[in-house]
Amino acid sequence: MKKIHYKKELRNWRNSSDQKLKSVGFVPTMGALHSGHLSLIHHANNVCDLTISSIFVNPKQFDKKEDLVKYPRTEEQDCALLEKAGCNITYLPTSEDLYDEHYKDVSLKLGILAKIYEGEKRVGHFEGVVQVLFQLFDAINPTDVFFGQKDYQQCMVVNKLIQQYFPGITLHKVPTVRDGYGLALSSRNKRLSNEGIEIARKFNIGLKKAATLFDAQSPAKALLMAKSFLENEGLIVEYLDFANASDLDPLENWKKSPPEIVVVSAVWLEGIRLIDNLVFQHSPKI
Ligand code: AMP
Repeated sequence: MKKIHYKKELRNWRNSSDQKLKSVGFVPTMGALHSGHLSLIHHANNVCDLTISSIFVNPKQFDKKEDLVKYPRTEEQDCALLEKAGCNITYLPTSEDLYDEHYKDVSLKLGILAKIYEGEKRVGHFEGVVQVLFQLFDAINPTDVFFGQKDYQQCMVVNKLIQQYFPGITLHKVPTVRDGYGLALSSRNKRLSNEGIEIARKFNIGLKKAATLFDAQSPAKALLMAKSFLENEGLIVEYLDFANASDLDPLENWKKSPPEIVVVSAVWLEGIRLIDNLVFQHSPKI
């Protein structure tokens, strides 16, 4: 696996005659890799001639400095995992190179996505995600990009970015990889104690409860019951809601339930913030 640190080197490589016509799958990450990230690499390997990943802890997308400082950094181990997974190139940019003297903020209207759920709770987060992805997509010029459904709202933001600036790129949404107890793998799980991991495993059970109760109870009651389950288990619920799976329109706006619904949530545990979601089909009552 080749490691590249500079945009110029990346562009030269991409423009070299033997790489020009190949399909290139790109998997952006912030490192501290786990099987969820590696699943994205495997998907890219299956679809594309070449797979490029990046490892960059993007300061622009952290709304809390403390979270940025504490974000786990395990570069050497990450590169070994990427190589083993069959990744061809890893781009390890520095902030100075990525946001160099030619850098200009890109503007993208996020609409409701900036105001709900992650957009509301992590002010400026998606704007930061857009900035880094624009730079990365522009430098790498991928044909395909791979993102995890765990970050459901982020997938929608990426879709907007592609529609506006990179119409030639195909977005692939990859299912969430979980541990044997249903806990979505996350780099942040590494900061939980053993007891915390046990509690975190209740998170997806709460989401399943909400989905099951959606039709059995009223949606509002389903949310109340799922929330009280999560809180009894020791999770502090920041938000828990049903949204239209196709556009993330929140429950409170609906006139009629959409056929496919996503239950989205963020919870806190041991000072760590976890997010997860679950998509389910709604069976309307006859
Ligand atoms: P991150 O390093 O957290 O920025 O994540 C990099 C990519 O990995 C994003 O597209 C995430 O959605 C994806 N990802 C993170 N956790 C998982 C998981 N458990 N399963 C699948 N994809 C994931």
